[in-house]
Amino acid sequence: MEKQELETIIGTLGKRMNRQLKEYLDVCVRCAICKDACHQYVATQDMTYLPAHRAELVRAVYRKYFTKAGQFMPAVYEARDPDEHLLDDLYRSTYACTGCRRCMYYCPFSIDTQWVISAAKAMLIAAGRGNEMLGQLADAALFKGDNIEMFRDNLVEGFREIETQVRDITKNPEAEIPVDRQGADMLYVALAGSHSILPAAIIFNEAKASWTLSMFEAANYGFFFGDPDKARLIAKRFMDEAKRLGVKEVVITECGHAYRVAELFYEAWAKERMPFKVVHILEVIDRYVKEGRIKVDPRGIREKVTYHDPCQIGRNGGIYEQPRDIVKAIAPDFVDMTPNREKQWCCGGGGGIVAMEEFNEVRLKSGDMKVEQIKATGASVLACPCENCRLQIGELNEVHDLGLRVVPVMDLVVEAMGFGHAAGTTGDERDAAEAVV
Ligand code: SF4
Ligand code: SF4
Repeated sequence: MEKQELETIIGTLGKRMNRQLKEYLDVCVRCAICKDACHQYVATQDMTYLPAHRAELVRAVYRKYFTKAGQFMPAVYEARDPDEHLLDDLYRSTYACTGCRRCMYYCPFSIDTQWVISAAKAMLIAAGRGNEMLGQLADAALFKGDNIEMFRDNLVEGFREIETQVRDITKNPEAEIPVDRQGADMLYVALAGSHSILPAAIIFNEAKASWTLSMFEAANYGFFFGDPDKARLIAKRFMDEAKRLGVKEVVITECGHAYRVAELFYEAWAKERMPFKVVHILEVIDRYVKEGRIKVDPRGIREKVTYHDPCQIGRNGGIYEQPRDIVKAIAPDFVDMTPNREKQWCCGGGGGIVAMEEFNEVRLKSGDMKVEQIKATGASVLACPCENCRLQIGELNEVHDLGLRVVPVMDLVVEAMGFGHAAGTTGDERDAAEAVV
């Protein structure tokens, strides 16, 4: 390895070195309790995916360049250079990690392997080995954000088409999808495609909410790629929009990582306190149901329904009860999976892994525990408030022939409001809906 490349990698790790990272690198006692917590390791028994091993690759470099013992006796202290072999291993173990943090929950020292993985991604990017697809998707999002005027007319035309659908479905000619509305209470940040706009627009209009739709998407490939600057700039687009419009709340759609980025990371990245709250749309819908602002049929969903806790909304976001309260309010035959809440198994689809074909095999195999959990419930509907989880479980559904309907929670709410499968969440309906925007 060239001296300059080595210095760049070590310099990058040095810049990430704070008390938190140092502690995670210092305190691991190699008890291997985390091996039984990681869905990828449990499903494959491949060391590449053992949480402590993933972090160990960063630790080896840390010992060599940041500890005296590792510098003077590298063989004794298992200190290593970030050579080609180490970087290859690091790439596979790092970009496969879904960031579910189930390993942290079970680690006796609460070592956050995902935090170490974020340092590993920075090292890989510095070595020119960041994942190409995630990097391209992040750059495409930044380009769109920087050139929003180029896309504005098409976007607004798409929104008007969805607005017409909302009016047809609700038989309310006044229903609207406001854009750029100064002084609205809420800015709703959706995903690309109408499937995350239509059901929310129906609910907001029925609740007579004061809202406006963001011109920007919630998804953040900069976060998955592992570049906090890109991640911050992608989220900054709708944060600035929210400030400009003077809203009281930014409402993130049913997308796990987007919620976590906006609610838990953005202020620290931007070094600025935001003048509004960030909430998940299910917190808003739960409010509406409990306050009676939307009318739902308590027997609206007759099938047996279960709920998947997306890692970034549940274990890493702390939202467990509101989605369950919503589903229980509309589906009398609700059954929880075991385990659930903070102990739930990752479905295998997080961390951007669904966008990286090279990990397809481990991704699908790592869904085995989720498949068993779902089967054990006997449910025919799976309510799931995260796009990546829905993509993964949707694929598991086909591969394992589960016969499931995998649906966003807000779509079930729309059904229970008497608007049928209006939101078009599966199969051809959804493809058609996505083509609109
Ligand atoms: S459970 Fe924690 S201390 Fe034990 S090996 Fe895993 S990371 Fe290290
Ligand atoms: S964060 Fe999840 S995928 Fe990553 S090592 Fe831990 S348990 Fe495995």
